[in-house]
Order: sequence, then structure tokens, then C-alpha cells
Amino acid sequence: NHLAVSGHPSFRESVGGKVPLGLRRRALRVLVTGGAGFVGSHLVDRLLERGDSVIVVDNFFTGRKGNVAHHLQNPRFEVIRHDVVEPILLEVDQIYHLACPASPVHYKYNPIKTIKTNVVGTLNMLGLAKRIGARFLLTSTSEVYGDPLQHPQVETYWGNVNPIGVRSCYDEGKRTAETLTMDYHRGANLEVRIARIFNTYGPRMCIDDGRVVSNFVAQALRKEPLTVYGDGKQTRSFQYVSDLVEGLMKLMEGEHIGPFNLGNPGEFSMLELAKVVQDTIDPEAHIEFRPNTADDPHKRKPDISRAKELLGWEPKVPLREGLPRMVTDFRKRIFGDQEGSTE
Ligand code: NAD
Ligand code: UDP
Ligand code: UDP
Repeated sequence: NHLAVSGHPSFRESVGGKVPLGLRRRALRVLVTGGAGFVGSHLVDRLLERGDSVIVVDNFFTGRKGNVAHHLQNPRFEVIRHDVVEPILLEVDQIYHLACPASPVHYKYNPIKTIKTNVVGTLNMLGLAKRIGARFLLTSTSEVYGDPLQHPQVETYWGNVNPIGVRSCYDEGKRTAETLTMDYHRGANLEVRIARIFNTYGPRMCIDDGRVVSNFVAQALRKEPLTVYGDGKQTRSFQYVSDLVEGLMKLMEGEHIGPFNLGNPGEFSMLELAKVVQDTIDPEAHIEFRPNTADDPHKRKPDISRAKELLGWEPKVPLREGLPRMVTDFRKRIFGDQEGSTE
């Protein structure tokens, strides 16, 4: 079973559809921290699909068992309720370290817990990787660029971050996580990878996590006004989750440490996003302006030249294609099995 033929599509493609005997890939044991969350659960789907064994470690703060419930009967799958702030002993080949709340509403809910997760949690997972010689991938964030003074953001930009603001538990936390990752690489010879993820959306996002795409979609479906914060001219670049998962796996399997920006360079103002949501769900949806939150970055757009060149990766799903797929999932979860009608 551990010598199963690889089902990894990119690998198959790269050998012209046939997997030569000598090149069969050993199935791996992979740990996904935060694997019951939005991104983690999609990653788990792909890892199991290609034949690997997967252990999810999650404290279910923002994740749900329901996101991975379809794998519970799979003998290659295991989920452990555990908080990464506490040490853990496991034996795996690769660690995708995602555990950390990602939505501003969730990470500001208990900022001390958020920074402990980023610092102590990451330290523990690095210590684990060191003990067992596993390759370690950190999911960092575009928030390390803060309110950027360079646009679009390249990986060599050091950022403009407020160290004492309400977002610091997250952005400074992730910056420290990157530092720890590089120090374990340099000091303990650990094989590491760093991804800087830009705003990502798709099925299984928490419905009420306060992020802009989930808010607008849920609001339009519930016939509530779309809440635009500030003047709505601030921009973000929205990446569909399957593109991100593809990028994370290419990064893990590739030879380059990074950091790599993983995001969709398509840039939208919040007002433009509201328009796409209106076009997709309900052209009658109203817009309501609300005061913006503190330290909100004015613009954000990834320069992905490095990932294109070194990982051969770029996103494939534009917002107007990805959004309807997310709407289908939200409709089901908000309205149950009925056809999405509140009437
Ligand atoms: P999510 O909140 O859906 O998933 C995070 C998961 O981590 C959840 O299942 C949660 O229960 C778990 N978790 C949180 N704290 C934990 C702890 N102390 N111990 C164990 N488990 C814990 O968020 P997501 O959108 O899937 O994000 C996944 C990762 O990607 C995060 O590290 C996030 O910072 C990063 N990221 C996401 C985005 C995005 O737009 N989604 C952007 C940038 C970076
Ligand atoms: N750690 C862990 N699992 C392991 C090995 C280490 O959770 O299998 C934790 C360990 O408890 C420590 C952290 O990772 O808090 C860093 O470990 P490392 O060995 O690098 O540092 P040290 O224990 O020497 O401080
Ligand atoms: N935002 C908004 N309406 C909402 C939620 C968020 O206009 O209901 C704005 C928010 O002010 C920010 C942008 O959307 O400028 C993206 O916010 P989000 O919380 O999704 O992610 P961030 O990129 O800030 O981490």
C-alpha cells in the first residue's frame, strides 16, 4: 500500500500520461495542521486522491468535522483533536502547517491565542519536523506586507506593518512564523517551504467569518444589504481555493524554499466585488456603507512572477467562474436542501 502508483496528475502529465516503473512515487504520510478548516480540507481531498496517507491535527476553533467527514471511513485518513500550542509526537514525511484562524474577525477574537498559535504552534511543528526529518511548509500570508507601499507586492518587499495594531497578532505572528521557519532551515538544516497566500475563497468557507466574499455571498442569498466598509475603493485580489491547493502542492514537491506569493493577480475594489456578487446572485441586492476597520490595507495584489517561473504555477479560475461554485455551496448550507428560496 505504501508503494502505490502515484495518482498525482501533474506528475502523470509530466511523463506524458504514463508512469514509468522506475519512477513510481512512494505514497507519503502527510500531516495537515488546520486540516479541518477551509483551505486545509481541500488540500486533504487532493492528498488522499493522489494516494497519500493524511493525518489532520485541528482544535476545531474555526474548522469543522463536517469539512472532512467524507473521509472518516478511509483507512488512509485520521483526524486528531489537538491544539498546536501543545507539543505532539507523530511520524510523517511532510507537514503542511495551516493551523491558525485566517479571518480578521476570528483572529482578533482572542489575539493572544492567535499569536501563541503563530509563534508557539509553529515552533512546535518545526520541532516535530526536525525530530522526524519531515519537510515543512508554512502557510504565511499577504498580510506580512501590511498596508503595502509597493504595488503589486513582490516577495522581496519587506512590508509596512504596524507592530502594535489590532491586526499585529496575525501579521506580526506570521512574520515571526516565517522567521522561525528560516532559522530552523539555517540552524537545523530543516527542509522548508514558505507560501504567502493572498485572499482565497471557495466552498466550505465559514459562512459568518466576516471576510468580504463570504459576507457578500451570504448577504445576497439572505436578501440582506451588502456591507461595504469605508468607501469601498480599497482593493484585494481573490483566488479560488483549487488554484491555491495546486500551488501549495507544487511548492511542497518542488525544490525552492520561497517565500512564494500564491494569489490571483486579478484586482477588484470592494465596490467592484459587490457588482460581481450582484451579477451572480441578485442584481437587486442593495449596498450599505459601514465604517472601515483599523489598519485596513488600502490595496493588495500579488506579483506572481516568481511562482510562475520557478514552480510553473499560475491560477486558472477567474472570480466570475469561481464565485458561482461557492454560491452553490453556500446556498445548500444556508437553505438546506431547498432550492435556495426564502419565500
Ligand atoms: P480556517 O480558519 O478555515 O482554517 C484554520 C484551521 O486551523 C481551522 O480548522 C482551525 O480550527 C484550525 N486551528 C486554528 N488554531 C488552531 C490551533 N491552535 N491548533 C490547532 N488547530 C487550529 O482558515 P483558512 O482560510 O483555511 O486558512 C488556512 C491557513 O492559510 C491559515 O494559516 C491562514 O493564515 C492561511 N491564509 C489563508 C488565507 C485565506 O484567504 N483563506 C489568506 C492568507 C493566509
Ligand atoms: N516538539 C514537538 N514534537 C516533537 C518534537 C518537538 O511538539 O516531536 C516541540 C517541543 O516540545 C519544543 C518545540 O517543538 O517545544 C521545539 O523543539 P526543538 O527540539 O527544536 O527545541 P527544544 O525542545 O530543544 O527547545
Ligand atoms: N470588507 C467589506 N465588507 C465586509 C467585510 C470586509 O467591505 O463585509 C472589506 C474590508 O474592509 C477589507 C476587504 O473587504 O478592505 C477584505 O477584507 P477581509 O476581511 O475579507 O480580508 P483581509 O484582506 O482584510 O484579510
